[in-house]
Amino acid sequence: MTTPSPATENEQANELDSALVTARRQLERAATHVDVDPGVVERLKHPTRVQQVSVPLEREDGDIEVFTGYRAQHDDVRGPYKGGLRYHPEVTAEECTGLSMWMTWKCAVMNLPFGGGKGGIAVDPKSLTEDETERLTRRFAEELRDAVGPTKDVPAPDMGTDAQTMAWFMDAYSMQQGETIPGVVTGKPPVIGGSYGREEAPGRSTAIATREAIQYYEREISETTVAVQGFGSVGANAARLLEEWGATVVAVSDVNGAVYDPDGIDVDLIPSHDEEPEAVTSFANELDDGDGVRRLSNAELLELDADVLIPAAVGNVITAENADAIAADIVVEGANGPTTFAADTILEERGVPVIPDILANAGGVTVSYFEWLQDINRRQWSLERVNDELEEHMLDAWGDVRAEVDAAGLTWRDAAYVVALSRIAEAKETRGLWP
Ligand code: NAD
Repeated sequence: MTTPSPATENEQANELDSALVTARRQLERAATHVDVDPGVVERLKHPTRVQQVSVPLEREDGDIEVFTGYRAQHDDVRGPYKGGLRYHPEVTAEECTGLSMWMTWKCAVMNLPFGGGKGGIAVDPKSLTEDETERLTRRFAEELRDAVGPTKDVPAPDMGTDAQTMAWFMDAYSMQQGETIPGVVTGKPPVIGGSYGREEAPGRSTAIATREAIQYYEREISETTVAVQGFGSVGANAARLLEEWGATVVAVSDVNGAVYDPDGIDVDLIPSHDEEPEAVTSFANELDDGDGVRRLSNAELLELDADVLIPAAVGNVITAENADAIAADIVVEGANGPTTFAADTILEERGVPVIPDILANAGGVTVSYFEWLQDINRRQWSLERVNDELEEHMLDAWGDVRAEVDAAGLTWRDAAYVVALSRIAEAKETRGLWP
């Protein structure tokens, strides 16, 4: 094992690159491992289009405020653009473009017939009343109406948006089109064409990727300890499933801190972020300090000596600063972008495998695909069928990525990008460039 040289100050300053810089760098890196026409790579560096719209809103006091909305459509060679709509003050055209590229790779590695899209409105959703959010969403749907549709571009919930937002978006779009078109968005409530199992899907796929990684590295799940950062939709569902499958979850956290019990935490006793925000910390406060139970910071959780670490809260938590101190043997990315580029290099040099986000948490977009199929066919699937098909899709994608790891000795991240780029490039070369 080599000792990595510490990152220079300059490297650290540049560490938190934008989504666009990261997405382009991953593309260039993957291109060095794939026999691909440079023209195709050049085309993939640029989005097909990025639409900017003004979204006027009448506030509760009668004032008019105009917000800026975006929809970036990166590539649709394999099918309609697919990706979230976020409501966040820092939404920009560049961020949407970078995230739309990530969605292109994620859909391709999962072999879904979609390309990548992402959009949103630069607004703080907490500053809006429910009625204002509804009016803003309906107007946004109207402004994007020509750009979206079940065969063109299919948005989904993201930061600051949820199933209700998608219901308003779908309703506004359908009213204007003159017919009910549930397939225009995914992540809707099941009563209007949403899919059972969509909410738990990213956590379920993260758990499946973890289970497969444990098996790949010839360990027993019943003898595996897991630390999970973040106890939300992804973290809580992953932790609960892994516990059900026999793993020992030794630490979980929310934004305020972590709880650690070397004998294992009964994660079913802790409400998830959705059920009750910040319940991990209140659960931790009620525990006795005996028998090795300890309260930790989020930083300490990341450095715990557990077999598997699942960062499932926010991006950029494993950096050049702490990558040397990560003691887990395997990292599985439940969150999007939890490992910076510099940290990734350090972990690679240290021989710590990192199962990348575009594979591990892709259950969300995969069940979105199932939802789209159910909407088009007007036939709802049972939860059991959704979970069975998700398992099948995950195992197929895992097998495809594993084959690249085994054949070319690539990291799991590079292998996932190689699988994705090969599929996109083959589709582009087969369709050709018109005119
Ligand atoms: P969530 O809001 O349901 O839960 C987030 C959890 O992380 C909460 O427990 C919160 O207290 C904790 N947290 C927030 N900030 C933190 C911080 N700075 N340090 C430590 N903990 C913190 O979110 P989620 O839907 O589970 O998403 C988590 C990650 O997974 C995000 O990166 C998201 O982009 C990604 N993701 C989500 C989905 C999805 O459909 N929910 C799909 C794919 C990827």
